Amino acid sequence: MILFVDFKKGYEKIKEEIQEALERVLERQWFIFGEELEYFEKEFSDYIGAKFGIGVNSGSDALLLAVLANDIGRGDEVITVSHTMTSTVDAIARCGATPIFVDIEEDTYNIDTSKIEEKITNKTKAIMLVHLYGNSANMDPIMEISEKNKIIVIEDACQAHGTEYKGKKVGGIGDIGCFSFYPSKNLGAYGDAGMLITDNEELAIKLKQFRNYGQRKRYYHDFIGINSRLDELQAAILRVKLKYLDNWNKKRREHAQKYNQLLEKTDIITPIEKEYSKHIYHLYVIRSKKRDYLKESFDKNEIQNYIHYPIPVHLSKAYSNYTKTNRLPITEKICNEILSLPMHPWISEEELIKISDVIKKILVR
Ligand SMILES: *Cc1c(COP(=O)(O)O)cnc(C)c1O
Repeated sequence: MILFVDFKKGYEKIKEEIQEALERVLERQWFIFGEELEYFEKEFSDYIGAKFGIGVNSGSDALLLAVLANDIGRGDEVITVSHTMTSTVDAIARCGATPIFVDIEEDTYNIDTSKIEEKITNKTKAIMLVHLYGNSANMDPIMEISEKNKIIVIEDACQAHGTEYKGKKVGGIGDIGCFSFYPSKNLGAYGDAGMLITDNEELAIKLKQFRNYGQRKRYYHDFIGINSRLDELQAAILRVKLKYLDNWNKKRREHAQKYNQLLEKTDIITPIEKEYSKHIYHLYVIRSKKRDYLKESFDKNEIQNYIHYPIPVHLSKAYSNYTKTNRLPITEKICNEILSLPMHPWISEEELIKISDVIKKILVR
């Protein structure tokens, strides 16, 4: 069996440090809003190159709070993509705002920045873009549109811990960046965790209040918040893993190069990296018209694989009354052709070859 992500291998490498970190928290018996979280917020926001980090329970909560804290709600519109994990769009809809979908680029699978401006109205409050699969969206045009139209930029960087746009870490470029530390992400906790990143102090203070029942101090609630916390055990684990992130991303990039080489003589479309982006390969996603057949062969050969994502958000049942007339040709086409191959820092060359051989058997030119 070739695993999609080999968690056990990853754990073995850092076992002692993790156990020390857990022990530290257990001895202290302080589990919520303590020093591990404060350090981790500082360390991760430093890593991204931004002033403030606000730890929350998940990437989904980070996205939700990004919308809530900017007073975006009923009657407002937020521009986003449909080719993403549903959480991106849920954050908008959950606040009562209307998601306005823009199609993606056929080569990067990220938001097509040339199609944003035609969707802007006097109700548009934000652009919520995604750095999908760990590959940076094209930020300069997005920031220009944002300045010109006075709308904010929320980055869904839940798959992009360490991804760079023109040498700058994503998540720290727009007004707010949202990260998930779900276990399988490039920086993953041993449970749920997430973080918001911003340079805006006023917003950071508001977000800290929002995640804590809207309280300014205990039992003084200025507004209706939520309860969303990154606990001390997860923060301690993430502090250990953050030190390894660059090295792990480097390994993923090497494995991606190897995949690219091995798949050169096939009809598979391999991921591309534009000159502005440093891809960290959270997912290594290939494209083929014979996707379903490929998937079947992987399953038969016990190679774990997934489709990210099989149903675009605007076509899912949950959104059936939002988007009846919306057509997104590229989004609707590529969801039938994409397939995510096993990818993690500890995958072996032998495994990469075995996976590629299954593809080659089917798709040799
Ligand atoms: C993982 C992910 C999320 C949600 O993060 P959770 O921590 O699972 O809530 C949101 N957006 C994208 C693009 C993701 O990959």
